[in-house]
Amino acid sequence: MVLADLGRRINNAVSEATKSSTVTQSVVDTLLKEISNALMESDVDIKLVLKLRKKLKATLEVKESDNITNRKKLIQKAVFDELCDLIDVKNVEIFKPRKKQSNVIMFVGLQGSGKTTTCTKLAVYYQRRGFKVGMVCADTFRAGAFDQLKQNATKARIPYFGSYTESDPVKVAQEGVEKFKKEKFEIIIVDTSGRHRQEEELFKEMVEIGEVVKPNQTIMVLDASIGQAAEAQARAFKESSNFGAIILTKMDGHAKGGGAISAVASSNTPIIFIGTGEHINDLESFTAKQFISKLLGIGDIQGLMEHVKTLNLDQGDSMKNFQEGKFTLKDLQSQMNNILKMGPLSKIAQMLPGGIGEMMNQVGEEETSNRFKRMICIMDSMTKKELESDGSIFIDEPSRIIRVARGSGTTVTEVEAVLLQRNMFARMAQTTKNMQSNLPPGMADK
Ligand code: GDP
Repeated sequence: MVLADLGRRINNAVSEATKSSTVTQSVVDTLLKEISNALMESDVDIKLVLKLRKKLKATLEVKESDNITNRKKLIQKAVFDELCDLIDVKNVEIFKPRKKQSNVIMFVGLQGSGKTTTCTKLAVYYQRRGFKVGMVCADTFRAGAFDQLKQNATKARIPYFGSYTESDPVKVAQEGVEKFKKEKFEIIIVDTSGRHRQEEELFKEMVEIGEVVKPNQTIMVLDASIGQAAEAQARAFKESSNFGAIILTKMDGHAKGGGAISAVASSNTPIIFIGTGEHINDLESFTAKQFISKLLGIGDIQGLMEHVKTLNLDQGDSMKNFQEGKFTLKDLQSQMNNILKMGPLSKIAQMLPGGIGEMMNQVGEEETSNRFKRMICIMDSMTKKELESDGSIFIDEPSRIIRVARGSGTTVTEVEAVLLQRNMFARMAQTTKNMQSNLPPGMADK
């Protein structure tokens, strides 16, 4: 089952359970069964699913004294928390590179896992955050490896180092890292060679390269399409390269993504990014909370904010307002304008609340973009007073809706949809303040 379907199924199960006027034990049982089935169909290990089910069951035990509203909130929160728990890695420190010093990051993984592509994606990620980044190709095994890295690096304007003549990868790695260190590069990414399968030779080479470049962080790149087998592969590599983090690639809608994530998490190694496509920008930072928020279509405001920051778009007061729990129609207008500039829309849409991701899946990128433009057009037809309001002005004076619909050449329904959209953002804004607390964003006021 693809991840979007998993999210939809879990969401539906939660909605069904919270829709009924009373939440009986049988409603809870049906919910648990549906969530478990959905997870298993997404290739999550059965033992993990049973554990989650048991914990959820204990948390959701129906008591006579329960207030129905609290019970519904409890269901939403418990499902969110347990799903996070399933893929969260605890008590492991995540490496954070520091500016003004050389941070060496070494990549390991099998051939074809997406290692070279991911090296470039990560280089770009750090470059956008103001680091001075260089890449070293220590893959002398595969013909064409250096050319591939060179091509990627050139496209992304990242300085690179490699050799067409030297066949010893350890030497190339050492020279490259030394050169970049001397030139005060802050992030030095070393791409090592892979093999088609795990071989003695490969592991030996990794150890040798590791000894000379002394990485601050070793990252294993794993192809998510192998599902639960990811855990065994990670374990085999761990014995020789002792990597501290994982990047799962090919998470773009593949059926087995859920299996790989949970398998890897259960091996207690943090996944720090996921690759979601072949392009340089298709790399998303990964935390359990963010991932589950997005999976359930609640929106990933943290990810969105991070993305916005790297693009240096004009935010006006929107983000400040957002963090303070406010959100006017004008803020919505400025956000939608920014979103259209961010591209690709498919990536952004999944981070937004209010079913925009769903709309995107149903009608496609072009139509979603057209709908966005109509929404912006609607807001362009509003007065300053209306724009700076929270939308209640339209409820008090419905004639305003008709005027705006006429002025923008749209319909009353479309204007109402804009107001609804603002409400959803506002709700998210209110819960943004609780992001670090236990409340899942967007769920608090459901
Ligand atoms: P390496 O042999 O491990 O260095 O793998 P490459 O970087 O050459 O990647 C192998 C193939 O996987 C290439 O066709 C990449 O474009 C593709 N690839 C890498 N990452 C992703 C990803 O996140 N999603 C998708 N769909 N393809 C990817």
